Amino acid sequence: MPSNALLQQRSKGKGGPPFGVAQRRFITTTRNAISSQGQTFFASHDWMNIKPKNGFNTCLAQDKSNILGEAIYVKPLVVWIPHYLIPNHIPSCPNCERCDGIDVNEAKWVKQPKVLFGLRSQRYLDTMSYKCHGCKKEFYGYNERSMELDANKLTGLFNIHLSRGFAVDDELYNYVIAHSLDSTSTIHRRVVQLHSDQYLSEAMYYYRAVDADKVKALPGNVAVGDGTQRTIDSMLPKAQARPSRDEQHLSNLMHKCDVIKRRMEFKIEQYEGEVRFSDLLDKKANRNNIHQPFKGLGKAKLELLVQNNIFTTRDLLLFPGGNPAILPQWKMIVQDYYEQVKVERDRAMQDYEEVTLDIDMLKLVMEEEDPTAVLAEAAQQVSQEAEQVAETTDKPPPFSQINDTEKYNCRPPSKATIDPSEGLDWSR
Ligand SMILES: [Zn+2]
Repeated sequence: MPSNALLQQRSKGKGGPPFGVAQRRFITTTRNAISSQGQTFFASHDWMNIKPKNGFNTCLAQDKSNILGEAIYVKPLVVWIPHYLIPNHIPSCPNCERCDGIDVNEAKWVKQPKVLFGLRSQRYLDTMSYKCHGCKKEFYGYNERSMELDANKLTGLFNIHLSRGFAVDDELYNYVIAHSLDSTSTIHRRVVQLHSDQYLSEAMYYYRAVDADKVKALPGNVAVGDGTQRTIDSMLPKAQARPSRDEQHLSNLMHKCDVIKRRMEFKIEQYEGEVRFSDLLDKKANRNNIHQPFKGLGKAKLELLVQNNIFTTRDLLLFPGGNPAILPQWKMIVQDYYEQVKVERDRAMQDYEEVTLDIDMLKLVMEEEDPTAVLAEAAQQVSQEAEQVAETTDKPPPFSQINDTEKYNCRPPSKATIDPSEGLDWSR
């Protein structure tokens, strides 16, 4: 089966599930084992739950030298290959609805497994594709029409709900159905919470095992099966997650808010402060400084004001009058200036209020819709544990971050995935 080579390429960004080196290797070795053992493989492996041998939970009873690096993060596989699972079964072609054009020995692995979302964690759903020589069409092992045609043999066996880019297991499916009176965001938030609880419990288990001295100190990024071989990924800088549209919008609003706040503070200061006429004289001396405020108060008038001990705009406003050299309209020029500044200050204050309101609203919406805050909180708890472990000598690697695609790679379903109006047919 040559298609294993396809798995060697990292699938991130190409529409497939992103997963780390350890997961990819586990998929490849499992495929190889199935290809060579055929039906007998499934006699000793639960097709719904294929896990690495000597999995994580065996560590308590093991010699600590047996604990592998990133294999502890490998998620189970679900491998649906009907011609192996049901003796002598040949799947029907969904196109011509016959099975006599199909040679099961020619079945090939699909390009890559689908993400199979669950209530607490994800698995990966793998299958093979069959070619029908009758109509020259190919189809996947879990093709719905094909399974419908073979319903007399398959009904009740394949309890997975399929959509274009992903699949949902029975547990998650039933959970959503059972809570269908709740809003999609409420259901989603609970599912994300369950995923993060699962992560926390696995992380705690890991640190308990570390405490019990059951985990060998290994560098974080080592190859599966060879704890001395560092993977190339460890040399690469961590990719920054691309900000979501809301995050981008929030960042723009924060920037805007900053600018408005500075303008507002400047206007408040300007309104409450005063202008020194000597400063104005300096500015007016510079002929390039056109667009100065206080039009109508020229150099001679300003000098006159200073000579009469009226040094600032505030002094002039407080000037009781009585000096025929100081005309009342000069005071009005300054009053107009303060009126204008007040208008600008009020506008800035209103803009500031509006933008902070927008920010608060957006944050509320993001909290409601994007429960990554829950995940971030879980990640923080775990890094505190990691710090404690790091204090001990000869330390094993800290447990993975919750969203590290190379390691733990938590992938709760998106809101759209469990939205009854999208993707899956939830009404069945
Ligand atoms: Zn056909």
